[in-house]
Formats: sequence, C-alpha cells, structure tokens
Amino acid sequence: MPTYRVITLGCKVNQYESLQVEQLLKNLGYTPTESKDADVVIVNTCSVTSQAAAKSRNLLRRFARRPRKPGDPPHTIAIGCWATSDKTKAAELLGENAAIGHQGILAEQLPALLGATQFQPLKRSNSRSLPILSERQPRNQRAILKIQDGCDAHCTYCIIPKLRPILWSRPQEEVIAEARNMVSAGHQEIVLTGVFLGAYGQGTALHRRQESPSAHIASLIKELCTSVPGLARLRLSSLEPGDATPELIETLRSFPQVVPHFHLPLQSGSADILRKMNRQYSADDYRRMIDNIRAAFDRPAITTDVIVGFPGETDEDFAATTEMARYAQFLHVHAFPFSPREGTAAARWKRQMIPQRIVTERMNQLQQLSDELSLQFRSQFVGESVELLVEHPNSSDVPESAAWLQTGVQHGRCERYFAVHFESPVDLTGKLVRVRIERVTAQRTVGSLLEPARRAV
Ligand code: SF4
Repeated sequence: MPTYRVITLGCKVNQYESLQVEQLLKNLGYTPTESKDADVVIVNTCSVTSQAAAKSRNLLRRFARRPRKPGDPPHTIAIGCWATSDKTKAAELLGENAAIGHQGILAEQLPALLGATQFQPLKRSNSRSLPILSERQPRNQRAILKIQDGCDAHCTYCIIPKLRPILWSRPQEEVIAEARNMVSAGHQEIVLTGVFLGAYGQGTALHRRQESPSAHIASLIKELCTSVPGLARLRLSSLEPGDATPELIETLRSFPQVVPHFHLPLQSGSADILRKMNRQYSADDYRRMIDNIRAAFDRPAITTDVIVGFPGETDEDFAATTEMARYAQFLHVHAFPFSPREGTAAARWKRQMIPQRIVTERMNQLQQLSDELSLQFRSQFVGESVELLVEHPNSSDVPESAAWLQTGVQHGRCERYFAVHFESPVDLTGKLVRVRIERVTAQRTVGSLLEPARRAV
C-alpha cells in the first residue's frame, strides 16, 4: 500500500482540512506514515506571518528535492494558504517533483495527480469538494469541526482576505451529520472553527452589513446541543466582539454542553491602534463584551491574541493593552510580534515600524503578565473539582507530559481549557474524568482523580 504523510502548519481550519485530505488519501488506498520517505507528502501551508510562510517554504523545499523515478506521480504536494498565495514562487520552489493542490478541487485533483484510478467516490460536502469526516481524529481528543470559511473584514495587518476572500458556511444539516459522526467515532468534545466563526451563515464578516449578527451561529449551536446525542462538550474556537451579542450569549449559557471558555482576539487595548488595525470594535466594546460574558457564566476563562509592536504603537498604546489584559484577567495571552505581510496596508507603513529591541521588551513584558494572570485565574479553583477530557499521555498538547508509563501522571483540559495533571493507575485517554484541584504553580495545575465523570448527555 502506498504511504502518505500530511504535515500541517497554521490554524484549526488548516488542521481540519488536513483531516479531510487524509480521508481522501485513505480512500485512494494510501496508508499513513510519519516517515520522511512517504510515497506522497502533503504540506498544508500557512501564510499568516512571515515566519509561517518561511517554515512552509523550508518544508516544501526539503521534501520536493527527494528523487523521483520517471513516470512516478509527484511525491510532494503543497496546499493551503501560502501555496495558493504565491503560486509562481511555489511552482519554482517545488519544481517538477511536486504540485500545488487547491482545496476547492482537491477531491478531483488528487486522484489525477497521484494517477489513482480505482477508488470509491466519497460522501462529500454539498458545497465543497472535500469529504465529510467520518473517522476518529487520530491526534485530537477534541474533534475539530470546520463550519465556515472566508473573511472580508480586511484588518490592515492580515493577508487572509486575500487568500480566502469568499465567505462560505456549511449547511446546518451537514454540520449536524458530521458532529454525529464524530460522537459515534468516540469524540466527546467538538470545537467549532472557521476563518471568521461568527460570520457563520452570513455573506460578510462586516458586522455593520450583517442582518441579525450571530443569529445563524446561535441557531446552529442550539441544534448541535439538542440533536447530537452523546455530545458532552462544545467549544468555540474564537469569537469577535461584534459576534458576542446578547442573543448569542443567552444561547451559549442555556446549554450545559457549551464550555465556559472563550477565545476573544483583542490584538490591542489601544483605541488608536484598534482603529489603525481596522478592527470592528473599540476598547470599550471589548470591555463590554467581557462584562457580558462574565455576567452570563461562572468565572469564564478568556484567552486572547495580541499583536505587539504594530506600526506606530507607543508606550501608552502598549500600556493600554496590558491594562486591558488585567481588566479581562486572561487565562492566556497568545502574543505575536507584528509581522508585515506583503499585500497588506500595514506592511506599507515602514516609517512607523517599531524597533526590534522594543518589540522584544514588550513581548517579554506581556508574556510575564500572561503567566501572572494565568496563575491568578487557575488559583481560584484550588479545592474545587473540575471535569477533564484526558489527553493521550504523549500528546504534545502540554510540555513535559510524556512518560505516563514511568510517572503514572496523565493530563487533560478542563472546561475552562487549562490543563490539569493527575496521577492515574490506568490510561484514561479520551475519557471525561473529575479531578479535585490540589495545587497550582506557574507551570502547572495538579489535581487528584475523583471518579470517571458523568456519561455524556
Ligand atoms: S477578521 Fe481580520 S484578522 Fe481575522 S481573518 Fe479577517 S481580516 Fe484577518
């Protein structure tokens, strides 16, 4: 059986599309391998930062230069945002040993590219080429379910609207069908994802142009929580302030499956910088959203993304960001140094670029604050019990989590998304268990196993 290897860079949307590609390849008779000598290597590239684009190129270069016998199908295929953002460069870099795949037509393209003739057509999504997932996600305890694609919000630092300009939402019945597949394949938690999740069911990501913002995603969540038996936990991969309407918050709080953890990208706490970023909310809007979510949920965990060193960012602007972080009491801040993306407005503001030394100082400061806030947030649960979805002992989900066989220590993520380590006499991977939080340190939260948790609703 020919072998394949899929390497994925970037976001949950990419991870989901890689799973669809894997299902396509298995259907063509290929088997997975982690070997660098796989018959075909698919690199799902990313272009959100210049570092991600560089990493994509290096990986492709490495695999594309492997020898190929005349007449053999290409052994390296590039897909994803970087590959489709600069096809000429990609083709040059890949040379004749490889090819560029387009998500839109991959199900047709791949068999032709690989010279596969014998295969059963797969049950495919009505509105897109790629298949409906029906298998257990091998590397994920939390199943990723992509429901939306595309963005036209044009934040000034972001290249995505150029790479995924068409907004598309999966029909509700298809999402429900796939969610049922995932639960019957053994997943107890599903993470809904999209390029602009809150634009589900909308023709635009621009809130000011949307009819009844977030109404469609609210109705989808209601359907998921009422018609997918066995679904224990539902998580949203991210929400923008404009999406977190009172209607959506009311829907989220009315279903026990919806976990009290929200990823709400802030990017900056400064009103000026938010305007320059062309973000669709002000700092006050963001604070109001935090207040609304806190009023609706018991100690909700809030994580976020922040860009440090955006062109023109002053000390006062950065101070507004750290002040907002304290106000929001974030569980975690994903801090990214500004990365100019060719083709975006912000990349042209060269004279306002912030010196690297200052960017590094601010990154360290924000990282330190994030660790401090995380410790504060987790400490409030000492002595309480939480429910964990146990990760595979060797998952890269949390550093130093290996060696369960030696240590008897396993870990899982609780409803509020922070990881808890606990001793366990048996491997509880994929199970929902209850643990009591015993102690919290800067690096780790430690608990003791109470009992296997409730059966899913
Ligand atoms: S909302 Fe902004 S940051 Fe997010 S994908 Fe769209 S343009 Fe990019």
